[in-house]
Amino acid sequence: MNGRRMVSVLGSTGSIGISTLDVIERHPDRFGVYALAANSSVELMYAQCEAWQPRFAVMAEAAAAEQLHARLGAGSPTEVLQGEAGLARVVTAPEVDAVMAAIVGAAGLPSTLAAARAGKTVLLANKESLVMGGQLLMAAVRDAGAQLLPIDSEHNAIFQCLPVSDTARPSLAGVSKVLLTASGGPFRQWTQAQMEAATPDQACAHPNWSMGRKISVDSASLMNKGLELIEACWLFDLPQEAIEVVVHPQSIIHSMVQYLDGSVLAQMGNPDMRTPIAYGLGWPQRLQAGVAPLDLIATARLDFEPPDEGRFPCLRLAREAVAAGGTAMAVCNAANEVAVAAFLEGRIAFTGIPRVIEFTLERVPVLEPCALSVVESADTQARQVAAQCIATLATKDRKTGLA
Ligand code: NAD
Ligand code: MG
Repeated sequence: MNGRRMVSVLGSTGSIGISTLDVIERHPDRFGVYALAANSSVELMYAQCEAWQPRFAVMAEAAAAEQLHARLGAGSPTEVLQGEAGLARVVTAPEVDAVMAAIVGAAGLPSTLAAARAGKTVLLANKESLVMGGQLLMAAVRDAGAQLLPIDSEHNAIFQCLPVSDTARPSLAGVSKVLLTASGGPFRQWTQAQMEAATPDQACAHPNWSMGRKISVDSASLMNKGLELIEACWLFDLPQEAIEVVVHPQSIIHSMVQYLDGSVLAQMGNPDMRTPIAYGLGWPQRLQAGVAPLDLIATARLDFEPPDEGRFPCLRLAREAVAAGGTAMAVCNAANEVAVAAFLEGRIAFTGIPRVIEFTLERVPVLEPCALSVVESADTQARQVAAQCIATLATKDRKTGLA
């Protein structure tokens, strides 16, 4: 190697993956792309392989892997791999320094865990893997001496505002509270009745951030903040009582840390994921990220308000899952994924999402997440229960003319 840090970008065709490649492209002397991985978008993956010439490209689906292989042809320097085994290979290879974990959903857990167990620098965008398998992932990071750097903008902000301990891990010395900011999403000022009739495109029209569809729906329901609350508990070893959610509609402050002496440190910037991505890639140095400088005069106002848990029950459900502990967080995550997919496919109303999660949390027993198999079976069971709930809701909606 010529001193460049080699990165495997998982979820390279998604919103975070594309932003990651944008930052890497600005620093060809510092970073190289070892592998790219995606689900099924062959054409975009083909274009990325042509541009980056990675050693490996991984497709989750076998048919997509075959198509990509055929498209790249015999002379390509890129070898095509498939599925979980392919992901495991490109996150554990000795040539790899850092892994961008930006697969969406529970599908990201095994590869994130494998990267941590291999002692890599893990740039964690895939919050669902921490929500599901927080205990396992944090233990793997500790045992293997991996470096876990949060890419989710709020957690990246908290990481930047926390004191650094001797071990270069975030410390809680003098911290009294973490203030997790939320934009409030596109439905912040909508009535319950308006939300009943919300369409997928309305839910995905986020006022400040451009993101994949799943996380956009999570932002609209505030489940994104619920998942982030769980993520913060694991990342920073905090009890949930030490985390307060504050709605801040401008998304300029990305989160804050309050200290015992009354100081509050905030990290600010334009809402552009290239800032936390560049921070993670360059850490502990700062890199040019291509992000426009913050213009506070043009911003003019920073507003704050409490979250409305009446209209947005997902936040309460996430707190209940933390309180229940064990696999309850994996169950909450799985039920949410199934409910969001059903909403995006027009099978349930937007307001059906928290109903599906609550129904599932009440029925799936909580276990101690001592192994990946335990977490995965809680995930599977939750998906089955959530699917039953959705079938009932969809029938009811048809009867009342909602679907
Ligand atoms: P996205 O839908 O735009 O992209 C998802 C990527 O994952 C795609 O490349 C897709 O091909 C890939 N993928 C899906 N299933 C896969 C599988 N089984 N195997 C391999 N690849 C698979 O999503 P996104 O908005 O980029 O979000 C990615 C992750 O980052 C999510 O966990 C999200 O919560 C988190 N995140 C995103 C943002 C953001 O601004 N977009 C901010 C914070 C956190
Ligand atoms: Mg976030």
